[in-house]
Amino acid sequence: MRKHIVAGNWKMNNNLSETQSLITDLKNQNKTSDAEVMIAPSFTNLWHANESLRTTEIEVVAQNMHFSESGAYTGEVSPEMLKSLGITTVILGHSERRAYYNETDESLARKVDAALKHDMRVIFCFGEELSDRKANNQEAVVESQIKNALFHLEADAFKNIVLAYEPVWAIGTGETASPEQAQEMHAFIRKTLEDKYGSETAENVSILYGGSVKPNNAEEIFSKPDVDGGLIGGASLKAEDFYAIVNAF
Ligand code: PEP
Repeated sequence: MRKHIVAGNWKMNNNLSETQSLITDLKNQNKTSDAEVMIAPSFTNLWHANESLRTTEIEVVAQNMHFSESGAYTGEVSPEMLKSLGITTVILGHSERRAYYNETDESLARKVDAALKHDMRVIFCFGEELSDRKANNQEAVVESQIKNALFHLEADAFKNIVLAYEPVWAIGTGETASPEQAQEMHAFIRKTLEDKYGSETAENVSILYGGSVKPNNAEEIFSKPDVDGGLIGGASLKAEDFYAIVNAF
């Protein structure tokens, strides 16, 4: 059975004291849904966040990592470094990483392999640009992103993969895909997985939606049968808003 998941991507927000204060606020929230909850602070705050939340239901995850074990990669963080802090889940392929740091399906395939080799869970992000959607090309774009980065894997690997469909035009813009657009794409993604790996694998993979999910639209988006949760940017920076989304299931 696939899981409901709500993950907060803090991006490059919150210094140490802001992190401490948001974590205190998060600990004061009540969870009334069955969703797994994750937060992704910056690298510098991962250790503190993970220690502070160790005894809670909130999992602390990383926003990115390098695919190499170690070496001359200034400014980068390896899978083993994350594991040594107790971090076992990593977000890969966020559209901001693709756009600003030249991440490609090929380099992401290497990152996915590295994460799986280290027994880490991956939240793999992908999604079309506005121009793709205007040209009605969104399915072809999403299909090729998934195929190029993931379809070299065996079916079993998908036990450790969560997919996050994030149309680039809806991230941080206040523009959300309609619940119908999200459902249509999520069903297409699941069918793409089914065609390659069979229905058992496809049915068990959680597919999150990301792009301006807020307390006032989460319930409708999450009510769609193929939407298994959300990757939340802006609204994850306020504990009350984030938990309103967590509790929208
Ligand atoms: C994101 O960055 O993954 C995201 C979905 O951001 P926002 O919720 O702010 O659109």
